[in-house]
Amino acid sequence: MATPARLDLNGKPIDPITICMIGAGGFIGSHLCEKLMAETPHTVFAVDVYCDKIKHLLDAPSGEKPRPWAGRIQFHRLNIKNDSRLEGLIKMSDLTINLAAICTPADYNTRPLDTIYSNFIDALPVVRYCSENGKRLIHFSTCEVYGKTIGSFLPKDHPLREEPEFYVLKEDISPCIFGSIDKQRWSYACAKQLIERLIYAEGAENGLEFTIVRPFNWIGPRMDFIPGVDGPSEGVPRVLACFSNNLLRREPLKLVDGGQSQRTFVYIKDAIEAVLLMIENPERANGHIFNVGNPNNEVTVKQLAELMTEVYLKVSGEPPLDEPTVDVSSKVFYGEGYDDSDRRIPDMTIINRQLGWSPKTSLHDLLQYTLTYQHKTYAEAIKRELAKPSAT
Ligand code: NAD
Ligand code: UDP
Repeated sequence: MATPARLDLNGKPIDPITICMIGAGGFIGSHLCEKLMAETPHTVFAVDVYCDKIKHLLDAPSGEKPRPWAGRIQFHRLNIKNDSRLEGLIKMSDLTINLAAICTPADYNTRPLDTIYSNFIDALPVVRYCSENGKRLIHFSTCEVYGKTIGSFLPKDHPLREEPEFYVLKEDISPCIFGSIDKQRWSYACAKQLIERLIYAEGAENGLEFTIVRPFNWIGPRMDFIPGVDGPSEGVPRVLACFSNNLLRREPLKLVDGGQSQRTFVYIKDAIEAVLLMIENPERANGHIFNVGNPNNEVTVKQLAELMTEVYLKVSGEPPLDEPTVDVSSKVFYGEGYDDSDRRIPDMTIINRQLGWSPKTSLHDLLQYTLTYQHKTYAEAIKRELAKPSAT
């Protein structure tokens, strides 16, 4: 019996397409490739400098059973900074998705030039090739383009801080509020904002079909790296991997400036559903900027540390530490020029109206899935490392 055609949100059959996915070997790219291979007929040119996180999707070694999606994913190891093959891949595709970026806060103030080049300059040819060749583009921006909330400038106990218009972030209303130039933290947000404006202008002046995604702290398995295991010992990944690393090593979790900043976390698998809806519903997604996050999963970083500790102790069966967290100044942790977004609650009106998407997974459940993965993937390697005699 033939499998029934998959339908878009307007009830039309979805035709298979070819997608050039740049940054496919990263955290989000790996989950998107998995989803596209398992649940759709689309073909992916997976472009990245690394492929460790998508190895399980690429062609099986000879002698092994071919994967069910064999032939639908091709890895192209190339650096988009300097590789002329990029234009050809974009021309051969129906849609380009650009995920490539330096996107770890520890880099923004310590490698601001690399950050600005990666997030703005390196994205320019991608936008140009799409525009010149009449190809659709889904570009990954960030919730960080909103910067700080308006409410953060009010005195601590001011009643207006409780009003949603002073903290909820809306794509078509909220301003982008960054710190001064010496606060180099904002190099990333500013570069992302300018590429958003350029894409928007290409749409307005040259008819580029685009969608801009603003992820709000997507987290889950395969995010970043565990320092000293599958990344540099001195590297500082994003908060999920930092806290996972501390838990795996039975060290106190480090709360930057007391962990008072607030974030909303969304499970990667929920967020990937939203991206698939964008891919398969161009009529509803083109010309839009979408917040993708979970407004119901808001915590302070301190609360996140407490919840991760509670969940991890259950998963690992280990006893609690006497001192589970420790405060550290941002200057010591990140260096000069760090600054922070105070609060990030996404308004969901536009994505809900256009694509009918809303997130499902609670913070507790997503941490349980993710920390079970972290424990299974890394606990043994860390035990072996800690058992080695120290070099001194
Ligand atoms: P990631 O670092 O895991 O993935 C980025 C990938 O891009 C990496 O595999 C990297 O090797 C690749 N890349 C970078 N420069 C490249 C180049 N010059 N040529 C080829 N490949 C290159 O990050 P992620 O979390 O998957 O994020 C993907 C995108 O989403 C980024 O644009 C990021 O700014 C945005 N974003 C993500 C989040 C989140 O919650 N994860 C939040 C805000 C924004
Ligand atoms: N943070 C922390 N301890 C860590 C790592 C991060 O307190 O070990 C804080 C960081 O200062 C920020 C929040 O956690 O307030 C989220 O950081 P992340 O790196 O995930 O990125 P962001 O959400 O700022 O883009």
